[in-house]
Order: sequence, then C-alpha cells, then structure tokens
Amino acid sequence: MSDLRTAFGESFGRAAEGVWHAPGRINLIGEHTDYNDGLVLPFALSRGVSVAAARRDDGIVEVRSRQAGAVTAPAEGGTVVSEGWPSERAWAAYPVGMARVLREHGTGGASLLIDSDLPQGAGLSSSAALECATALALCDLYGVEIDRPELARLAQRAENEQVGMPCGLMDQSASLLAEPGRALMLDCRSGLSSQVPFDPPAAGLALLAVDTRASHALTGGEYGRRRAECEEAAALLGVDALRDVKDLGGALQRLRDPVLRRRVQHVVTENHRVEASVGLLRAGAVAELGAMLNASHLSLRDQFEVSWPEADTAVDAALRAGARGGRMIGGGFGGSVIVLTAADRAGRVRDAIAAAYGKRGWTAPEFLDAVPSAGARRLA
Ligand code: ADP
Ligand code: MG
Repeated sequence: MSDLRTAFGESFGRAAEGVWHAPGRINLIGEHTDYNDGLVLPFALSRGVSVAAARRDDGIVEVRSRQAGAVTAPAEGGTVVSEGWPSERAWAAYPVGMARVLREHGTGGASLLIDSDLPQGAGLSSSAALECATALALCDLYGVEIDRPELARLAQRAENEQVGMPCGLMDQSASLLAEPGRALMLDCRSGLSSQVPFDPPAAGLALLAVDTRASHALTGGEYGRRRAECEEAAALLGVDALRDVKDLGGALQRLRDPVLRRRVQHVVTENHRVEASVGLLRAGAVAELGAMLNASHLSLRDQFEVSWPEADTAVDAALRAGARGGRMIGGGFGGSVIVLTAADRAGRVRDAIAAAYGKRGWTAPEFLDAVPSAGARRLA
C-alpha cells in the first residue's frame, strides 16, 4: 500500500496522513433470510477497497478512484440521492454519503484516493467495502471514536439514505467485524453478532467462489417480488417476520397458495441451516458444511426459485468432480456460486466447471480462492 500513499502524493500534491482498508465478503449460508429478520453467516475476503486520505479544512470531500473518476462535494449537506447526481458521479455517493453521515459525529472534509481489487457488482460487496474504508479513514483522521457495530449501522445508513439503496446490515457488519479464520453469525433482527471458527485451509479444504458470468437482468423485479411474497406470507401467518415461524408444518398447512408455501419453506429451513452450520463449525466439522450448502442450493433453486442455469451447472459439475458441496450466493438470477472442496481436489473441480461451461458454449467462469480474512483496518 506504499504504492497508494505515493499515488496520493502525486495525485493531490501533498502527503497522505494514512492508508485504510476494508474487505469484501461472501455469505457462507443464510440467503434471503436477512429481510425476514433471520440469520446470515458472512466472512471477509482478502480482497477489498483501500483508501489513502488526508484532512482538508475547507469542508470539502474530494474523492478520486482508480476505478472510476474524481468528484468534489461538500462534506455537509442533504442526501446525495435528493441532489440527483448524474450517473458519472453516482459511484461517489458511497464515500461522500459516508462522509455526510459521519459529519454529524464530528468528522470533516478530506481528500481520498481509492483503489480496489474487488470486482464491482459481482456480489462480493464492493459498495460496503468502499463505505467502510472511507468511514475508518475519516474517523481516524478526526479522532472520532465509534464502536464497530455502530459504525456498521452508520455505513448502512449511508447506503440507505445517501445512495438510496435499501440494503440490510450484513455487508457492512462483515467488512467491519470480520476476523481471520472466522465467519460472523449475524442476527439481522437484533443486529447482534458472534464469531464462529471457519478456516477451510486449516482443515485441508478450499472454498472457491465462481463468478458464473451471468448477468443480473431479472434481479430487480424478482427480488422485490420475493420480498413482497415473504411479507404477505408473514401477514397471513400472523407473525412479524418469517423468522418467527416456529411450526413449519402447521404454517404450510395454513397457507393455500403453493408459491407462498414454497417461499416459507425456504426461509424457515434456511434459518435452521445457518444454525446447523454454526453448530458444525463450532464442532470443527468444516467438511460437513458441504451438505448444508447443497441443501441451501436445492432450496433456493426449487422452493425460492431464484437460481439460474449457469449456477446449477457449476454446482452440479463441482459435485460430480467430488466437491463436498456448493450453492448459489446472492439475490439470484446471476452472480456467483461457492464450492467447498478438498484442497487437493480444487484443480479438478475448477476444470470440471470450466469444461461444463465450454460444452455449452458459455463464457468461461472466473475463480477466486476465498480465504476468511481480517476485517477493516488501518494499513499505514
Ligand atoms: P457490490 O457491492 O456487490 O459490488 P453494488 O452495486 O452494491 O455491488 O456496489 C457497486 C458500486 O459501488 C459500483 O457501481 C460503484 O458505484 C461503487 N464502487 C465499488 N467499488 C468502487 C471503486 N473502487 N471505485 C469507485 N466506485 C466503486
Ligand atoms: Mg453492494
């Protein structure tokens, strides 16, 4: 990161005061549970967003990204979304929005140089990494002390209110609270989290993230529809959220609509799978997690109906090549899958997925070796 410090000097003509980093994340299990007040189990990646920064005393935030452009805006103001920024400035809503939320807590203007090795929009949460790296930089620069769970809420607020994106708390919590060799069990209702041992390499395993290279064309409408279906089912069952369904059999009997029955079955069993996965990890049975991933994938495919052909093909090819398990991750209809495999089998699994894609004439998938890594921190 001395490189980013140097680049800051060249770009802004003065010295950076420090360099901060916040990681992207993968959610191991617990899909479409967050907005049902349920459980998720993300871990941080070794990749993320880095920010070199220095204070300014003119109340201005100037952000430059090596992946985007340069934007200047006041650190104090209303919301970025209400100002209706043009599309070429849209990316800067994340760091500027973060600065505006933190302004109320005593931070001020700053120059920020941003660099990232996370693909954007691939479901690895580059947006939260950008918010959290910016947040740490501003808090450190201005000596503002905010504990990490609270900072995660403020970063979520920046994305909700400033960017206009109604995301939950998972991405920011993972980026700020993650620890190496651990996953974070987050209760999306209470906001409370706990660390769970998760270290595939130490168990002779590898967790591959496979970018299926399929576009998210349908995500917007379908995602909204799933949320609405879950709300409708909760209302019919007389509970605040599907998290509260205790008697699944009884609930399924009370619902007449087969679509709602399928949605409820997924959400309720997926919460159980998160709890079961945490139990397995605490018992050191990492390889057994494969069965949980498989069950999650089938539930997302057949009950929640959000999988897509490239994901099904990748999981299927991985299992045929001897992987322990795999599942689609994210909202659905595009994005990535994860595959858990014995480390010495990872090459064969990769080849099998690539071959299955080749046979169908699809764009070759991209692989990332996902190692549970440290949360956001100061680098220099
Ligand atoms: P994800 O969080 O899954 O990567 P999002 O759509 O939530 O996808 O966030 C991606 C957006 O975050 C990008 O479109 C861009 O606006 C912003 N972003 C992420 N990384 C950078 C970066 N390095 N430079 C500028 N903007 C970034
Ligand atoms: Mg995001």
